[in-house]
Amino acid sequence: MTEVTAPATGDGKQPATAAPLLELREIAVYYGRVRALNGVSLSVNEGEIVALIGSNGAGKTTTLRTISGLIRPAKGDVRFRGEPIHHLGAERIARMGVAHAPEGRRLFGRMTVRENLEMGAYARHDRGGVRESFDRVYTLFPRLRERHAQLAGSLSGGEQQMVAIGRALMSNPTLLMLDEPSLGLAPILVDAIFEVIREINARGGTILLIEQNAGLALRTASRGYVLETGNLPIAGSSDELLNSPDVQRAYLGM
Ligand code: ATP
Repeated sequence: MTEVTAPATGDGKQPATAAPLLELREIAVYYGRVRALNGVSLSVNEGEIVALIGSNGAGKTTTLRTISGLIRPAKGDVRFRGEPIHHLGAERIARMGVAHAPEGRRLFGRMTVRENLEMGAYARHDRGGVRESFDRVYTLFPRLRERHAQLAGSLSGGEQQMVAIGRALMSNPTLLMLDEPSLGLAPILVDAIFEVIREINARGGTILLIEQNAGLALRTASRGYVLETGNLPIAGSSDELLNSPDVQRAYLGM
């Protein structure tokens, strides 16, 4: 399968023409002597939703952590808006507009919902903009407005996931990376979270999405990558991947 390079805008499905917003070239990552990624290349264009799927341990989280600057690759480069960023620290990369809602949520359990959301905006000094971001997050997740004074540790799993996504949005990111947003959620909440993901994208947000639920991820995204044990991912449009017998057999339970 060949990589589809036509970028997209708006609803995540429309082609556009700009250079990639994010590009990984031949990334290799080691944990000690264990090689987790081996020559991973992928790109995300402005306005797209791109899904990264693969089995447990394939290296999906490692890929996102490498982009966020939490892990330094041994080889290859990561470019954001054409600039190499793989040598920069995580805070600097976050300030450039890359937000990461990690798997497992990583909330501050003894802080309120509102305080957790504020943490997402810690690097911003535009008070008016931060207020707008609060409004936006509370509009996307009315439940969080209701629960703004509740301790995050006492929220349900689904509500915690909303806070994790909300916190990432509070930085007003150019690129939003979501690690397993459906993990552990009841189907109705999964639908709600994916509705929000589509809405963020419909407003122009660019999203790189890791998801165990490969069918849902590919139906939401315009393109996808299938990562197999850290090697160069198979790339294609969502339709190509959804119709690929290999992908169907390995990831779609068909
Ligand atoms: P999952 O879907 O199960 O979360 P994944 O695709 O996100 O998996 P990663 O978490 O990126 O996979 O892990 C890739 C490989 O790197 C795995 O073999 C994992 O055991 C290994 N690995 C991940 N983190 C570490 C670490 N901190 N130290 C050592 N090995 C690690």
